[in-house]
Amino acid sequence: MNIYVLLKRTFDTEEKIMVNNGSIEEDGAEYIINPYDEYAVEEAINQRDQHGGEVTVVTVGNEEAEKQLRTALAMGADKAVLINTEDDVETGDQFTTTRILEAFFEEKEVDLILAGNVAIDEASGQVGPRLAERLGIAYVTTITALKIDGDQVSLEKDVEGDIEKIDTTLPLLVTCQQGLNEPRYPSLPGIMKAKKKPLEELEIDDLELEGDEVEPKTKTLEIFLPPEKEAGRVLEGELNEQVKELVSLLRNEAKVL
Ligand SMILES: Cc1cc2nc3c(=O)[nH]c(=O)nc-3n(C[C@H](O)[C@H](O)[C@H](O)COP(=O)(O)OP(=O)(O)OC[C@H]3O[C@@H](n4cnc5c(N)ncnc54)[C@H](O)[C@@H]3O)c2cc1C
Repeated sequence: MNIYVLLKRTFDTEEKIMVNNGSIEEDGAEYIINPYDEYAVEEAINQRDQHGGEVTVVTVGNEEAEKQLRTALAMGADKAVLINTEDDVETGDQFTTTRILEAFFEEKEVDLILAGNVAIDEASGQVGPRLAERLGIAYVTTITALKIDGDQVSLEKDVEGDIEKIDTTLPLLVTCQQGLNEPRYPSLPGIMKAKKKPLEELEIDDLELEGDEVEPKTKTLEIFLPPEKEAGRVLEGELNEQVKELVSLLRNEAKVL
């Protein structure tokens, strides 16, 4: 099976993020594999181990993303591709990323593409479904179980805490949700092996794209951090008094009543 994983390098939202001049300060930020893409890598490896074939991890980004690609190789992926846009594309959006990925997949024989459900930084959840539409293949989002038998596929999909069961066929794109599996940590031998695994680097002209074909369709006007939360207030005294004070605060201070 030809299995591909779409992997995004994101900053770690659990670390402190600084915004400077309307953009996120790269220096000092921690970068990781988008956590939902770790489920995608794990699932791709498991499916390959069951059915044979090869797992290729693909990123649209810059050279810094090599680290995250090597981590995916150390987990067990076979090959990695970095589509480096650094020199050719100044700004981009979901259209840009999808258009580049579409060009990459145009000549490829694909059985299964796994993406994350959402990227934890910009969180549009668009890239997977958009790509499947452009490639003309079926897609199922937020999957929590995947079983393949020949070209028949049975899936479970998270629908707001409930489960929907879906049957479909390959070729297919899925987006992965928490609960699908438990992503492994790269082992030491895995890390050593990853250094020798192929990591191909492409630029957009290798995909026969010009800069103006991938120009973003949207414009980010402003990026800002949410206002700091004020400390909570603990009411004291008799219960009756507390209730009166609470109602008064909600009416006069919070103005929600
Ligand atoms: C050249 C370029 C320049 C950019 N410049 C800017 C900018 O100036 N300002 C700005 O705010 N944003 C910029 N972006 C980022 C862009 O707006 C989005 O972050 C990106 O297109 C993905 O959208 P998302 O984060 O909402 O991902 P989602 O659609 O939420 O991601 C879902 C899944 O899609 C896949 N995916 C998403 N992105 C990638 C990727 N890059 N490579 C491989 N798989 C991926 C992953 O599997 C991910 O889990 C740029 C992107 C590119 C390619």
